Amino acid sequence: MSDQYYGGQQYGDPQQHQQYGQQPYEQQSYEQYGQQYEQQPQQPQPPQPPQQHQQYEQQAYGDQQHQQYGGDAPQQPAPQQQFGRSSRMSESSLRVVWVYPDLLSTYGDRGNALVVERRARQRGLGVQRIDVRSDQSVPTSGDIYLIGGGEDRPQRLAAERLRNDGGLVRAAENGAIIFSVCAGFQILGHEFVNDLGEREPGLGLLDVWTVRGEGARCVGDVLADVSPRLNLPQLTGFENHQGVTHLGEGVTPFATVQVGRGNGTGDGTEGAWRDTVFGTYLHGPVMARNPAVADMLIKLALDVNALPPADTTWYDALRAERIAAARPA
Ligand code: GLN
Repeated sequence: MSDQYYGGQQYGDPQQHQQYGQQPYEQQSYEQYGQQYEQQPQQPQPPQPPQQHQQYEQQAYGDQQHQQYGGDAPQQPAPQQQFGRSSRMSESSLRVVWVYPDLLSTYGDRGNALVVERRARQRGLGVQRIDVRSDQSVPTSGDIYLIGGGEDRPQRLAAERLRNDGGLVRAAENGAIIFSVCAGFQILGHEFVNDLGEREPGLGLLDVWTVRGEGARCVGDVLADVSPRLNLPQLTGFENHQGVTHLGEGVTPFATVQVGRGNGTGDGTEGAWRDTVFGTYLHGPVMARNPAVADMLIKLALDVNALPPADTTWYDALRAERIAAARPA
């Protein structure tokens, strides 16, 4: 990501925050609240507020049962007032869109949607999770889009359908937050090599392209230090991919591997990001091992620098176990 999207300012610059914040008064009070809890409240700021929020309820997604996800806690309207909700968010709740669970969901990547939802509910936010199967159109009004890994053939089908549908690209143009894993990451790039050995166009949302690695598959536990600008703790995850992903100048590596292969290019880079679009090779699911990543997406959606604290006991236990397992003896 280049500085042009942030006007060369530091992330978390209050002036820039005002510029993007539609509710500066609320935001300011929320920031003060949040800063009591977080030492380093820097967050990347979205480049511009999304202009369109279509009413996706009016569209037909068929699978209505997921529109109002039961979740693990009742929605609590009152605490939502605390949040400096940006125009990115819908009126009443955070809209979390899980893209193509029928094609892209290896290694429990569905867990990413569950963790984002859980972390938001822990802060008293209402959440509407929308699972969009590959025969349905992708709504453009989501706040956070999650897209997972997949085998080679489902990956080709998913890319084809996402290109034809156009919803995810329009959502990105509107400034949506998109977090992709493995096959999903490859699909967000310019192209990848499909199961037929052909170059398959991606969505071009990230300046990356993927070739088929000549060597052994990249398989195993990963430890990676996240791009310092994102201010996140070390990542733990699991990778399994044949693709090797090259990064163009329009993106920043999401992380640098300490253990594992990451993008497979041999330069230590892992994943890529630009603005509010992220890609990683890490399964785990990555949010369960790294809840700070889910929190980062929620902060971006709310357009705030910090969130109230939320219990991480179980996440911490999992992190400690997987980090110890990944470290070379
Ligand atoms: N099919 C892709 C590859 O092997 C992605 C694999 C995955 O999503 N786990 O590179």
